Amino acid sequence: MKNIAVIGAGTMGNGIAHTFAQSGFKVQLIDISEASLKRGMDTISKNLDRMVSKEKITEAQKQETLNNITTYTDVAEGVEYASLVVEAATENIDLKLKIFKQLDEACSEDTILATNTSSISITQIAAVTNRPSQVIGMHFMNPVPIMKLVEIIRGYNTSDDVTNTIMDLSRKLGKTPTEVNDYPGFVANRILMPMLNESIETLYNGVAGVEEIDTVMKLGMAHPMGPLQLADFIGLDICLSILNVMYDGFKNPKYAPCPLLVNMVRAGKLGVKSGEGFYDYSESRKAEHVAKQFLK
Ligand code: NAD
Repeated sequence: MKNIAVIGAGTMGNGIAHTFAQSGFKVQLIDISEASLKRGMDTISKNLDRMVSKEKITEAQKQETLNNITTYTDVAEGVEYASLVVEAATENIDLKLKIFKQLDEACSEDTILATNTSSISITQIAAVTNRPSQVIGMHFMNPVPIMKLVEIIRGYNTSDDVTNTIMDLSRKLGKTPTEVNDYPGFVANRILMPMLNESIETLYNGVAGVEEIDTVMKLGMAHPMGPLQLADFIGLDICLSILNVMYDGFKNPKYAPCPLLVNMVRAGKLGVKSGEGFYDYSESRKAEHVAKQFLK
């Protein structure tokens, strides 16, 4: 595999592009928005600068990584030579189905189509293509260049060959791939999201404030980040959409999203990416409790 196309240059897409490019692959980074592509490339450049200043890579390696990435707004053009496409566009089922139909038409017939979806069924995505055995979940963790895990999700029809190829490829990126089956939330989010939702419910019920909840989990459970801070970091819209997929998929009320989470997303408070969530990120990363206004 030489050419890897990445669809979406947002939080995950730019991290995935960075990781492949740093491992020597040619990356075609594709987004419908020029502004997202620019922001994505700026983020990659800044993250590489940080690695240079920590002496993890050299300035020459930084330049080589950046030179390995080309940006596109046209999907068909971007995927022309790709052996693998990793889709990391917005978490929306209709959008993903549309993108996979388009990819199936535009890509050569042996191209593997992977999705970084956090929760949407791989089997359902694969069903809109004519190559369901070549569709697989490649669920990177945020921030992609740093986190070691890639959750590899086999759809109902994903072949052994394709699974093994993607497992090997993940190892070449210096990651630890872990194979799981295709049920709502897979493994990572099936366990993580109920905990984040319960933290929001705890805040909503007035049991404790944002910083208190995060402190209990950081110091008491040795979590590197509090659950509310982590929810901000993931994006509250993403958390809500994953919980909804699990709620619909299992028909079990234990996955019902907390009304406070629903309200915050409706109000555009999406966490780090919108500048405000449970904490205020507008000027500095100073932890400021802003969620209380939603409780009044
Ligand atoms: P994001 O909102 O930061 O970025 C999404 C990008 O997709 C945007 O730049 C948008 O312009 C682009 N896009 C939308 N429609 C497109 C199209 N038709 N073609 C090309 N680009 C398009 O989202 P994100 O947080 O990077 O999430 C991307 C995917 O990764 C989602 O499926 C999400 O569930 C998954 N994921 C997210 C996280 C996380 O922590 N944020 C972790 C693991 C997986």
